[in-house]
Amino acid sequence: MAEHLICGGTGYIPEDGLTGAQLFSNGDGLTYNDFLLLPGFIDFTADEVDLTSALTKQITLMAPLVSSPMDTVTESEMAIAMALCGGIGIIHHNCSPEYQANEVHKVKKYKHGFIRDPVVLSPNHTVADVFRVKREHGFCGTPITENGKLGAKLIGIVTSRDVDFRNDDSESLNLKLSSVMTTVDNIIAAQSGVTLEEATNILEKSKKGKLPIVNEKGELVALMARTDLKKSRDYPYASKDENKQLLVGAAISTRNEDKERLSLLVAAGVDVVVLDSSQGNSIYQTGMIRYIKKEFPGLQVIGGNVVTAAQAKNLIDAGVDGLRVGMGSGSICITQEVMAVGRPQGTAVYKVAEYARRFGVPVIADGGIQSIGHIIKALSLGASTVMMGSLLAGTSEAPGEYFFSDGVRLKKYRGMGSIEAMTRKDAKGAAMERYFHSELDKVKVAQGVSGSIVDKGSVLRFLPYIQCGVRHGCQDIGARSLSVLRAMMYSGELKFERRTHSAQSEGDVHGLFSYEKRLF
Ligand code: IMP
Repeated sequence: MAEHLICGGTGYIPEDGLTGAQLFSNGDGLTYNDFLLLPGFIDFTADEVDLTSALTKQITLMAPLVSSPMDTVTESEMAIAMALCGGIGIIHHNCSPEYQANEVHKVKKYKHGFIRDPVVLSPNHTVADVFRVKREHGFCGTPITENGKLGAKLIGIVTSRDVDFRNDDSESLNLKLSSVMTTVDNIIAAQSGVTLEEATNILEKSKKGKLPIVNEKGELVALMARTDLKKSRDYPYASKDENKQLLVGAAISTRNEDKERLSLLVAAGVDVVVLDSSQGNSIYQTGMIRYIKKEFPGLQVIGGNVVTAAQAKNLIDAGVDGLRVGMGSGSICITQEVMAVGRPQGTAVYKVAEYARRFGVPVIADGGIQSIGHIIKALSLGASTVMMGSLLAGTSEAPGEYFFSDGVRLKKYRGMGSIEAMTRKDAKGAAMERYFHSELDKVKVAQGVSGSIVDKGSVLRFLPYIQCGVRHGCQDIGARSLSVLRAMMYSGELKFERRTHSAQSEGDVHGLFSYEKRLF
């Protein structure tokens, strides 16, 4: 093996580790756990590491993080949090086109601090309803309007102070809010048109938790929360368009009907669409890409999923701006078991990214991300961003309510190809087609499972932890930025090593009787 000189110092050191090309040269499919990165030289702090990376040809993010278009992961709340933290959320399409477009609209119209669709109650609601709102949403400062709806005359507000000392006997729980609320003449409200700065000042001076915003007729049009104001100060790297609105993506399928869905999404201001197919190399997808590029030339299109260069070629030829890579690696996925098709994720990311980079098409490593280490590995194999489902499910921003099982607080997490997701019928108007190929697919063959996942708290705390971890990983590698990381991999400077099973056990906690694993 060749020997070379390092830094002109004390002498020659032998070549050590494998380059990316060598790691994947023998034809075995590798997952993230099958290899490690060898450390490099550190001459900068972790804070200096630049995580800027491309999502598509024209969209660049300050953090390489994307939330998956799954109905237990991404609706507007998750997409807002992702964008605030420098990433992006892709709104799922297991719902009616109108519902999905409205979720996009909520993200585009999001202004730090202003809540455009607050929970509202009427004077005829009861103390029990306030407790229910607290259970479901985690807060109890609720404005009261004449009919319990936004847009009606504001007549009061109920806060925790109004109900804190109410017992949970039926007499207290059945009390009408009209008898416990703080009435409108005793609350401080702001007129619509108030700027964020002015509203912040009012909240600061009044020391209140909530500030209702009303129009000239005294009708409630929005609400402002002290907790949200704190957030607005903390997100200097938020992903925004040229109008300073948050970036958002949405998934669609490749059926003809989805052209109508697409028009609604475009009208709502969507920045990027993801063509959501488990096997994206199809005539349906290339047709849809060409249609979008012709009808909406300014719209960024991500194609997929693909796991080989041959699949990627067809989508690149059709004009995609980004590729989603992964088949069978998702935590809820049974595609490889049922269809016998797929690819271990490490190999899939490396092979597709290595091909797509020649055409300037960024790659999203989608599925199988279980830890920060997996994110760093995906990026070191050439991915520009990672897409996460399970890592973000169970957070307070993920759709769905928490429930308890054996004393553990959980949320539902399910594959979009699970029977449960494919047969969803509810107010959102289900429309899951990713796992059906034609009208003739009368028998549903599940490609995913449905389960639950432990409460992880807010994404707004979790994402900064992930970003910090990725920065530290890059520092250990000796890469000041994600583009340097990729360049080091393609030049052969970045070195990998395969891990045997026992090496993997060694890398895990071992030999302890018991331990606590707190991540941040
Ligand atoms: P996770 O991050 O490992 O949980 O994987 C999430 C990814 O799994 C998604 O972004 C999809 O690409 C994929 N996925 C979602 N639902 C299913 C399914 O039902 N079967 C197979 N793959 C799925």
